[in-house]
Amino acid sequence: MRLRAMIKPLGIAALSGSPSDVPTLASGSLLYLDGVSVSFDGFKALNDLSMIIKPGEMRSIIGPNGAGKTTMMDVITGKTRPDTGDVIYDGRVDLTSKDEATIANLGIGRKFQKPTVFESHTVWDNIFLALKQDRRVFPVLFGLERQTERARIQEILETTRLSDLGSRPAGSLSHGQKQWLEIGMLLAQDPQLLLIDEPAAGMTDAETEETAVLLKDIAKTRSVIVVEHDMDFIRALDVRVTVLHEGSVLAEGTLDQVSANPRVVEVYLGR
Ligand code: ADP
Ligand code: MG
Repeated sequence: MRLRAMIKPLGIAALSGSPSDVPTLASGSLLYLDGVSVSFDGFKALNDLSMIIKPGEMRSIIGPNGAGKTTMMDVITGKTRPDTGDVIYDGRVDLTSKDEATIANLGIGRKFQKPTVFESHTVWDNIFLALKQDRRVFPVLFGLERQTERARIQEILETTRLSDLGSRPAGSLSHGQKQWLEIGMLLAQDPQLLLIDEPAAGMTDAETEETAVLLKDIAKTRSVIVVEHDMDFIRALDVRVTVLHEGSVLAEGTLDQVSANPRVVEVYLGR
């Protein structure tokens, strides 16, 4: 249900109806989706989707194939424009009027499923190159501040468990380590919100466990939305879970709460 539709019955007249109510409702949120719908040839990939992510919050998104998880990320990052609905970033920025580059510059980073690191470059250089694209640091970096730059690269390598592998070519890393490196490259952009699509896919059990710890570390300083099918991984994250189904929210709560929901079992977990 649309958030505004929920508030109207409460009789908060000032909030209903006018366009100016959107920032009011979105204030204090990092990401606010309300009534978002996207159709492909008449098929609703997103159907009246509403969700709020708070600053510093990590959220897991689960749900069957075709539920709209990737489309939701496409809408947030400006790859796909919603037919209807509000997408508000940081309580005030209307993302539906922005293009992908602008949205990335606003501080929203996205990691796709397949790692896209520069295989022949070292791990260190991959982070270094990503840092060069940092919108804030770039002017300062011109021949200056090399210490700061090195410290940031080292810090990112520590966060992504790659400190000992800085001089290795990225192509020699395991699949899991490449995923971590790509997360590191995103961290170099210093995003406020990180969207991560199925990070544990193809990882060993040990890598999957480490990825959960790593993401929890990252979520100490920024918001993270993570889509994943691996329930052990979701359990290890220990965060609020949103279940998508047919383009809208079917259930939301702790993993135990949504796992106990018969509808969730029926459409997803019981399969
Ligand atoms: P999920 O990531 O949850 O598996 P998606 O967001 O990828 O789901 O897809 C939701 C639905 O929208 C699916 O039925 C998919 O086939 C459809 N869809 C997604 N993108 C497109 C597109 N560009 N054109 C047509 N249909 C699409
Ligand atoms: Mg998907």
